[in-house]
Amino acid sequence: MPNAALEEAFAPFVGQDFGPPEIARDPVNEAMIRQWCDAMGDANPIHWDAEAAAKTHHGGIVAPPTMLQAWILPGVRLADPDRPPSDKQEELHALFNQHGYTGVVATDCEFEFERYLRVGDRVTAKATIESISEEKATALGIGYFVVTRTRFENQDGELVGSMVFRVLKFKPSQPPQQASSGDAAPAKPQRIPAPRGHDNGWWWEALDRGELMIQKCSQCGTLRHPPRPMCHACRSVDWEEQPSAGTGSVHSYVIMHHPPVPGYDFPVAVALVDLDEGTRIVANVVDCPFEDIHIGMKVECSIEELGGVKLPVFRATS
Ligand SMILES: [Zn+2]
Repeated sequence: MPNAALEEAFAPFVGQDFGPPEIARDPVNEAMIRQWCDAMGDANPIHWDAEAAAKTHHGGIVAPPTMLQAWILPGVRLADPDRPPSDKQEELHALFNQHGYTGVVATDCEFEFERYLRVGDRVTAKATIESISEEKATALGIGYFVVTRTRFENQDGELVGSMVFRVLKFKPSQPPQQASSGDAAPAKPQRIPAPRGHDNGWWWEALDRGELMIQKCSQCGTLRHPPRPMCHACRSVDWEEQPSAGTGSVHSYVIMHHPPVPGYDFPVAVALVDLDEGTRIVANVVDCPFEDIHIGMKVECSIEELGGVKLPVFRATS
């Protein structure tokens, strides 16, 4: 049943700006760009090598487009629950909270980039509450999707890019009632299967067949795991696969108690295993008292179904 009082109260927010535009504290600068590229592993010289960038059609250093939001993000603010709302978006969230829709989760974010930012440009961001959905039933509880759009402009008012950000404001669902005696026990949650993409699907498919494979660079022979498109040693994208014998030793491990992710029986031993072939893999160690697990312990792999997903697990070899 939609919440008519809430819907009437939030309707005027649609189309409103959050507040005055936000202006970047600092102009686009090489130091922030370099820091970002270091953190993200972006080695494109158009972002940090002035000489190389000058020879490109950019004519000089440009900021990575994906860095757009960084120019206007404020520093870390300590959360003060008693602080009054400082803009329309916060007012809107407070309104949802008053009606019991206290949960919030970001669901997706889309960027569109129109032009590169150059050193010295100054970014202005204008954020608007674009739409609020009808009431939806979700796994988290009933709620409303709130879509905001932020337009980023340079100092000349030219559109640099835009970001569409969607959150779900929801009424957290009540924990399920304890099954009364005689009722069937609720199904045990399964593990979330790993996403299978172009670069790693083959590895999971091999596991499904009961084979533990290792990716090997066809150029320099370096082994790598987890599967990825490029060799970290020679940057070749040519690769082949080779079966692993499944033997190795514990390089490091933790006994994980928290957070209680569904599909696992906690505590669980998670090890970084040095495979004898010369690469490493993260997997569970099973059938071994936690106090007996130690660095250097010899282990052997077996491929088993854990929580509905086929996975390599390791046991101590005697
Ligand atoms: Zn290589």
